[in-house]
Amino acid sequence: MALDQAIRDKIIASVERGFDEQIAYTQDLISLRSVRGDEYVIQDRVFNELRSRGYAMERFDMDQDAIERHPGGSPFSEDHSRAPIVVGTHRPRNETGRSLILQAHVDVVPPGPESLWTHPAFDPVIEGDWLYGRGGADMKAGHAANLHALDALRRIGFQPAATVYVQSVVEEESTGNGALMTHLRGYKAEAVLIPEPEDEKLVRANTGVVWFQVEVRGLPVHVREMGTGANAIDAAYRVIGELRKIESDWNTKKAGRPHFENEEHPINLNIGKIEGGDWESSVPAWCRISCRISIYPGWTAQDAAREIHDRVAKFALSDPFLSNIPPAVTFHGFHTEGYVLDPGSEAETVLANAHRAATGKPLQSFMTAGYLDTRVYALYDKIPALCYGPYSENIHGFDERVSLASLKRITTTMALFIADWCGLEAIE
Ligand code: ZN
Repeated sequence: MALDQAIRDKIIASVERGFDEQIAYTQDLISLRSVRGDEYVIQDRVFNELRSRGYAMERFDMDQDAIERHPGGSPFSEDHSRAPIVVGTHRPRNETGRSLILQAHVDVVPPGPESLWTHPAFDPVIEGDWLYGRGGADMKAGHAANLHALDALRRIGFQPAATVYVQSVVEEESTGNGALMTHLRGYKAEAVLIPEPEDEKLVRANTGVVWFQVEVRGLPVHVREMGTGANAIDAAYRVIGELRKIESDWNTKKAGRPHFENEEHPINLNIGKIEGGDWESSVPAWCRISCRISIYPGWTAQDAAREIHDRVAKFALSDPFLSNIPPAVTFHGFHTEGYVLDPGSEAETVLANAHRAATGKPLQSFMTAGYLDTRVYALYDKIPALCYGPYSENIHGFDERVSLASLKRITTTMALFIADWCGLEAIE
């Protein structure tokens, strides 16, 4: 049921008309510093924004117990966000179309040293086509696009003829537990769209992600006795060597895997953080490394975790220092599986049509080697899970930025997609 040409033109013009307002709202979201655990204010803002438009609102907390019992749940650490999840629900007068979840996360990764940013990280500066700021691309631009794609329909007197849930979650950058919580709460629809910054392409496959820490301990001695070799930082470097071997072994397993075998290096291990030692002239008694590794779809986080644990334990036995006090491996964040979007779903066809109408180009799909919340809906709701969003640069880096022209195009795609997937009814 393709959209009528006249309606399509009206929707395209309506996105254009609302775009200044959409940019201003996106800038507001960027200026709210919503790093992990600090998402209360932004979730409150999102709640009010949805409520002011008449959506039925719910705000709820994470259920740690239920999350940790679920196979897709990641363990809680003391850094886990306690900020609420926000869901706004649109109900049509007559439910004639197909229901939809529009989801986005508000948490952003830490900005790192401010001196490496051209503008302050949470200052939403526009230069030419680029909107700067930590979390602007990933993914406050998409977050605002969810709301404004629906606004574009309202502006011309229409609303979706099906239930639409607008979900605003946290913990996307650390555990994926926010998205899982919406599933556990019972929200379900016939498709989901998440506008992450994917360069106007559709994600065909992605990886799971596992976070872990390795802690090495030794006996502190004065440096003049360090010949005994019990230096926890040196030992941690040897453990990192073994972790690099695991990474290399997992990369050789790309052979025969569609979406992965043609990638140079699909599995990435990041040694993200290292802490250790207490004093320049004491041999360090402890060292802790915090790591992130990706896994192929179809591998469970549990199996990957077991392999990491066993390989580190085995390596420790071969090392004179580590064999005395084996390193402890703990899992403290992402514990998630990847997914593959089956081609040929009706939802994908509708998105491809909308994308062509908005951009004049065919929709391309690709593999992305990172975590995405779409996995919750693909793996546990078993619905078409579409991850598609604007062009960006430097997400998780310095001078993160999103293209405004691209943001307008993908918002247009989204509005057309909603109109076609859900159907439209006149607002009374
Ligand atoms: Zn993101």
